[in-house]
Amino acid sequence: MVVDMHSHLRGWSPDAVQTIEELLSAAEDKRLNGIAVTDHYDLDNVSDSGTKWIFDPKQYYETHLPFRKAPSLLSRAGVLIGVEISYLPNHIEEIKRLAATEEFDAVILSVHEYDHIDPVIDCKNLFQDGLSAAYGRIIHAIAESAMAVPAADIIGHYDFFSRYAPTKRSKMLYSHAPDEFDRLFCIMIQNHQALEINTGTVDGLPTYLKRTKK
Ligand SMILES: [Zn+2]
Repeated sequence: MVVDMHSHLRGWSPDAVQTIEELLSAAEDKRLNGIAVTDHYDLDNVSDSGTKWIFDPKQYYETHLPFRKAPSLLSRAGVLIGVEISYLPNHIEEIKRLAATEEFDAVILSVHEYDHIDPVIDCKNLFQDGLSAAYGRIIHAIAESAMAVPAADIIGHYDFFSRYAPTKRSKMLYSHAPDEFDRLFCIMIQNHQALEINTGTVDGLPTYLKRTKK
């Protein structure tokens, strides 16, 4: 069974353009058994137009409830209702409360900034001592997030920062930070958390890497 567990919708995530109908139609084309709507919940992010990257969880749930259906091998229109929460230590209590919301079928916990550095805006400082050192710090931070929010089901895009590394060969590998990866996996096993494989990062890799992909 194939279910895309990470998607954003127009009107709920400031960086999204698709409606749920468009998402379901694309899922049908790709023969997926279901999708999860997991819009951004980022307590510190405000878009240029002044829109906050948060929403009312109750309103979100009630809006998507008519579509909610358990994904099944026998059908292709499964819809789960979830959320992608940005991990921010300064909002830990609110994040833990939100992650424990019973209505959510899936809670993704994502690290979108490191030490207040948003990689979309500035990644040079983070990578100044090389990929291994930077990735070690990032995986360590992701492990801290997984430990701090055990109610999260999925650890989001572990290799998100590699999209913004100031070098072409930026694919994040286990060999860059084996100790930090091992620690992350131990915490995730303890908390029954899954690791997201985010194809957005694969799409963001330089084309020469994609061409060698089998
Ligand atoms: Zn994300």
